[in-house]
Amino acid sequence: MSVPPGSTIGIIGGGQLGRMLSMAAAQLGYKCHIYAPDETPPAVEVAAAFTRGAFDDAEALARFAAQVDVVTYEFENIPTHALTAITATAALHPSVRSLEIAQDRLNEKEFVLSLGGRPAPFASVDSRDDLDTALDQLGAPAILKTRRLGYDGKGQARIDAPAGTDAAWEAIKGASSVLEGFVTFDAEFSILLCRGSGGELAIWDAPRNVHANGILDRSIVPAGSALAPAIAKAEGLARRIADAIGHVGMLAIEFFAVGGEAVFNEMAPRVHNSGHWTIEGAATSQFENHIRAICGLPLGATDLEAARVEMTNLIGSDVEAWPALLAERGAHLHLYGKKHPRPGRKMGHVTRLSGRAD
Ligand code: AMP
Repeated sequence: MSVPPGSTIGIIGGGQLGRMLSMAAAQLGYKCHIYAPDETPPAVEVAAAFTRGAFDDAEALARFAAQVDVVTYEFENIPTHALTAITATAALHPSVRSLEIAQDRLNEKEFVLSLGGRPAPFASVDSRDDLDTALDQLGAPAILKTRRLGYDGKGQARIDAPAGTDAAWEAIKGASSVLEGFVTFDAEFSILLCRGSGGELAIWDAPRNVHANGILDRSIVPAGSALAPAIAKAEGLARRIADAIGHVGMLAIEFFAVGGEAVFNEMAPRVHNSGHWTIEGAATSQFENHIRAICGLPLGATDLEAARVEMTNLIGSDVEAWPALLAERGAHLHLYGKKHPRPGRKMGHVTRLSGRAD
């Protein structure tokens, strides 16, 4: 059953992803109601309603769900028991199952293996002894990552030699983790896929992603012909993942390209930073297609709007360059309305298009 324009979409999470989702929803005549714990989340400035509440408050979430026609999320660290409470009152897309898999790095990797995908070599770590065993098995360098609650390089510690094991264990505070072998990659890229309520898929050209300090710095489309074999394999895996879960909405999967192979890194059952370029760079943005999918509408085309599209994140004080970016011909500036440009904080992004699309 479709949720027609004029209806209200509930979005859990109030960051820039919720802000851009709300703007895309408004263009299609929907109202958005944001649920978030913060006092003044970026999404609220462009949404019709706001409920302030904790992500683990199942009762508040259920009351919120009763006021909207469909619920989605832009944030992954929501306890699934609290989300399940929503499903009694409103449709939730993507489902709790999509989130459950993506929330836990170990589950995610095992799920991907079961579908014929190839994650980086990994071992589960639940104790200090496990960490020694895992490091013996995988060798240094390796990266210790908490199973849950990690993002933008947080909840991670690199181990360059066995002597660094204690420091890494302390850095992640002894949380249940996975140790990952270090992947010497040719490049990083992501698959951006949207699956509609009837199972139809929209897939964009895969961006090549460049990270700095564990945070996305730039996404470049097209990714370049050298990555084509790895991207083709990754796209096949992404389709299998989306279909196996019965996913509805955006699914973004990050990969390492290694000599024509695609090594799975992680997936997000939501709109994703590496898809921001689609706002001006593609016929339909990731935000609009996510709204279309969760409302049961047909998906829009994903064709490129230019020969080359590049998105650059404005992190921390980078945002101070906004007057120059605004003056730059062909640069599309997005500011998220955040007051304090702390180091590592995503304050906005700029997308540059060049050349005519084929
Ligand atoms: P993540 O939060 O897991 O996506 O990690 C953030 C970034 O750290 C990635 O995009 C890579 O640039 C780098 N990274 C993470 N895991 C690995 C790995 N196993 N080998 C090499 N680089 C990695």
